[in-house]
Amino acid sequence: MDTQIAADTVNADRPDDVRDALGRPLHDLRISLLDRCNFRCPYCMPETEFHADFQFLRKNQLLSHGEILKIASVAVSLGVTKLRLTGGEPLLDKQVGGLIESLAALKGVHDLALTTNGMLLGPKATALAEAGLNRVTISLDSLDAEIFRLMSGNRGNLDQVLEGIAAAERAGLAPIKINTVVQRGVNDHTVIDLLEHFRGTGHIVRLIEYMDVGNRNGWKMDQVVPSLELLGRVQEHWPLRAIGRSYPGEVARRYEYVDGAGEIGFISSVTEPFCGACSRARLSADGVLYTCLFATSGTNLREPLRNGADDAELADILSRIWLQRADRYSELRTPGVADGHAPSKVEMYRIGG
Ligand code: SAM
Ligand code: SF4
Ligand code: SF4
Repeated sequence: MDTQIAADTVNADRPDDVRDALGRPLHDLRISLLDRCNFRCPYCMPETEFHADFQFLRKNQLLSHGEILKIASVAVSLGVTKLRLTGGEPLLDKQVGGLIESLAALKGVHDLALTTNGMLLGPKATALAEAGLNRVTISLDSLDAEIFRLMSGNRGNLDQVLEGIAAAERAGLAPIKINTVVQRGVNDHTVIDLLEHFRGTGHIVRLIEYMDVGNRNGWKMDQVVPSLELLGRVQEHWPLRAIGRSYPGEVARRYEYVDGAGEIGFISSVTEPFCGACSRARLSADGVLYTCLFATSGTNLREPLRNGADDAELADILSRIWLQRADRYSELRTPGVADGHAPSKVEMYRIGG
């Protein structure tokens, strides 16, 4: 099927969709499989905070795959059509293939994707595709080996990530999206090289504004390169033409190279918030449901699950959470919220972006 048509179908509003206080349906569920990661990207899990003694979730605190499946299936019954597995690093979960198989079998799931740093993807891509995964998004901040190393917290191997991307392509996990977080003075001068590398490959690079997620990365506005500035820099090399969103609620502003070399996207959560169409809920690895990336609290679903809640009770809890939802953090972002004088926000590594 044509991807444009497929995408339109995926997130088409339905009259009986549960809607939040601002009229937004629940269409996407992002599921964080674990809070651990094999990288220490300074903007997400700085090594100084996430050191050898850091207390990650214990096994019994993590949702089991059966519990994840149950929550996902209830969410699908309420209108969710897109599922994304994330983390931490989701490929550290050795049983991820089995979970994908079960999630892919849920009637009503039209898009099953996974976000990964790509390090462990090479040997697994084919099995993941065979299990029913539709697409992968691979995070890659620079093709400069030294900058890449720094931005992975000294853990990443660039060649291995590039091999992961190639394996995903061979496995048909397309279209492959490459997520690049851009930080001023860190990797912004390497963005053009990265774009050049992926032009003409069919992979879609999305340049992401560095966000004030969580409380541990020391975010400052002057580290953000506004998408408008980046757009100007890219246009100095290759003229771009804006193209429409492929479905309601899509976060990236899409552009195509006028010379036909493919598509790129800009995710401008800081300078051009897109809360109006935000249809995403996020489930942390320990079973807390968050209705915003910048939430200061969420709802524990693990407890009712482990106390024997059935599907109807879970559906009731989920729809009540969604009906009350009025989040629009990015639209309301104020200096007080971003500089640490506000309540603690959930960390990105817990809910996976
Ligand atoms: N470990 C996997 C990965 O890196 O793809 C999945 C989880 S990671 C939290 C998901 C995405 O969040 C990545 O693309 C990462 O670059 C992005 N991210 C993390 N912290 C961010 C920040 N402060 N601003 C913008 N994007 C961020
Ligand atoms: Fe790990 Fe992804 Fe966070 Fe980097 S962005 S530390 S790879 S979870
Ligand atoms: Fe959605 Fe919250 Fe991001 Fe707004 S700030 S787009 S409500 S996740």
